[in-house]
This record gives sequence, structure tokens and C-alpha cells, in this order.
Amino acid sequence: MNNSITIEESKRIKELPPYLFVKIDNMKNEALKKGMDLIDLGIGDPDQETPSFIIKAFEEAIKNGKHHHYPSNYGLIDLRIAISQWYKERFQVNLNPENEILPLIGSKEGIGHIPLAFVNPGDIVLVPNPAYPVYQAATTLAGGQSYDIPLLEENGFLPNLDNIDPFILKKSKMLFLNYPNNPTGAVANKEYFEKVVKFAKRNNIIVCHDAAYTEIYFDQQKPLSFLEIEEAKEVGIEFHSFSKTYCMTGWRIGFAVGNSKIIKGLAKVKSNLDSGVFQAIQMSAIAALKKSHDFVNNLCKIYQERRDIIVDGLNKLNWETKKPKATFYIWIKVPPGYTSSELCKTLIEKIGIITTPGIGFGRHGEGYIRAALTVDKNRLQEAIIRLGNMQ
Ligand SMILES: *Cc1c(COP(=O)(O)O)cnc(C)c1O
Repeated sequence: MNNSITIEESKRIKELPPYLFVKIDNMKNEALKKGMDLIDLGIGDPDQETPSFIIKAFEEAIKNGKHHHYPSNYGLIDLRIAISQWYKERFQVNLNPENEILPLIGSKEGIGHIPLAFVNPGDIVLVPNPAYPVYQAATTLAGGQSYDIPLLEENGFLPNLDNIDPFILKKSKMLFLNYPNNPTGAVANKEYFEKVVKFAKRNNIIVCHDAAYTEIYFDQQKPLSFLEIEEAKEVGIEFHSFSKTYCMTGWRIGFAVGNSKIIKGLAKVKSNLDSGVFQAIQMSAIAALKKSHDFVNNLCKIYQERRDIIVDGLNKLNWETKKPKATFYIWIKVPPGYTSSELCKTLIEKIGIITTPGIGFGRHGEGYIRAALTVDKNRLQEAIIRLGNMQ
């Protein structure tokens, strides 16, 4: 007799796209079992440790009992003030710490929850493709429909907002953007962001700009905040992360800033689902914002050196690749004769190099693979040697 209940996943779970990266993980484990010496350019997780002055701030904060309790839903006011000061200095943008800033348990958490605040079942969310997979997943989980807007090389990997079907636009509630971009490494300029603001106003669309990589840039060309654009705060918010800038991926802290109504909606969702960020971590984030100038400068130098090793090396081997102006990703064209998944498989099995297939970021990512610059330069030089020997 079978007494067990039928356990069926919800439709919204079933609608989530298959997580392609699991396959890569399996291949990686196979290669490890065989004892291969792997060079892992797969995941976007910095190889450096969190700087010691941030750890010190944490050690001090955790000893203070007042930080051991539930944090407030809007986060520590001192953190919100530090964020507003950092924003003013870095982007010349004014933010009100009372209602335009919201700390998050990592920016992924905020991105994951924002559609729940504004998207009704059947509403459309415009999602770039290829992209960080969370935009689409969050839309699906909220019951929305995601509509792919392709990022093509001929448009500088910026979505063309002029040729979206008016019928789609009418049902569109939200637009996700991400510059500097993961996975393509593309950067958006002021002109483009101005177009986005006009587009959003004309079509009544909320803009959610994921700015996780604004501090990882090269050649002194500082990427913009979307909020630097006039009237941007009327249409959108921006997500920031401490993960990449301060090598704090495991700490789980980020923040959203911008339009107070949008911030309020996100805060409502969060107050019903989570209890905010551990205050000792918020105290560490304050230290990160205030004292990281030299650390981040140096980090960018490290990534730039790595970028040049990989891109110059690839170009010498006749792999067509451009140097990104920001992010720690290289978006590499797949040579003829392979799909992106086939190339990733070959690179793991033959030479022990792990990359991510473009198709994992959406169908318009096919034809590319992504390499993350998160291993030291000697290993990158070794990767280029192995590639040269494979040909
Ligand atoms: C890494 C990453 C994030 C997530 O950052 P967390 O703050 O660690 O959640 C968000 N967006 C993009 C594009 C990323 O690459």
C-alpha cells in the first residue's frame, strides 16, 4: 500500500528554465575525479579575500550586543547615510536616506523580490537576453511573463528599445537593465540611459537597473549610475552589490536606491518575507564604503592585467575577442564548428579549463562563452598555453 501524498511542484516552479550551470558542475566534478588540474573561469566569484579593514569592522561590531537583535526593515540609518554620501561622491547623485535607500541581503535578493511588488499575473517584464538569470526567474516566480530583448554585438550589447511591438509595450510593467553588463562586459553611455528614461516615461515602465559592476572598470573610464540621468529617479531604481566591489560575495549585503515609491514597494515585500541584514554586516558595509578607495583601485588594476593577458593571448591564437571596459568577464566568440555548450565541454575535457556557455544566459548568448577573470595571472597564462597546444 502506498500512503505517500502526491508532491507536485507549483506551475511557477515548473516554468523556471532549466539551470544549465548544473551540467557544467557535473562535468567539472568528473574532471576533478580524473585528477585533472582545472583552471576555473566559470563562476563570477572574486578569488581575493575580503579586505582586512572590513573584517576588523565586523569583529568590533559582533562584540557589541546591540547588533545581536532583529535589524530594522529599512536597515541602519548610519548605513543609509553612508550609502547616500558614497553616491554623492561617486555619482553626484543626491539620495534621501529616509526613503530612497534600502539595504538588501545581497542585490540578488532585491532583484528576486522586486517583481512581487509591482508585477501582476500576465504583466510583461522586459528582460535582456543574454542576462543574469535572476531577472527572468524573478518575473516567472511573480507570475509575470518575461519578454526577451536581445543584446546584440552590432548594438554594443544595448537593447534596441525602438522596435518593441506596441502590443507588448502596452502590457509591459518593468524593464531590467544591467550595465556594466554581465555576461557581455558592455558599458552603457549617457545617451543610451537618456533614451531609457524617455522610453520608460512614454510607456509607463519601471526601470530596474542592476549596477553590480560600476566599480570594476578599466582605463579610468568610470561607468555611470543610471540615476545620474535627469528624471531617472522618476522611473526607476538601481541595485548595488558589495559582493564584487569589496570581495564580499559570502557576506550577503547589497542595496537598492532611487524612486521612493518603488523602494517602498520592495520594502513591503521584504518586511513580509525576511528580517533584513545582520547589523554586524551592515556595520562592515559602512567601513567598506568609507575606506575602500585604495583597495578597489588596486583590485581594478589586478583585473585589468588579467584581462590583457587573456584577450591579448586569445587574439594571438586568432580567437576574436574584444577588451571589455568594465566587469571581470570576457565574452568570447565561439569559433565555427561548435555550439557554446560543445566548446565548454571540449575545454573542460581536453584541457581542464572551465568557462560558461553563452546559452546559459539565454538564447541570444549562443555563439559566445564567458570567462571570469577570477584566478591569478599565472593561471591565466597557463590557460592561454593550454589553448595554444589544443589547436
Ligand atoms: C553577482 C551579480 C549579482 C549578485 O550580487 P549579490 O549582491 O551577491 O547578490 C547581481 N547582478 C549581477 C549582474 C551579478 O553578476
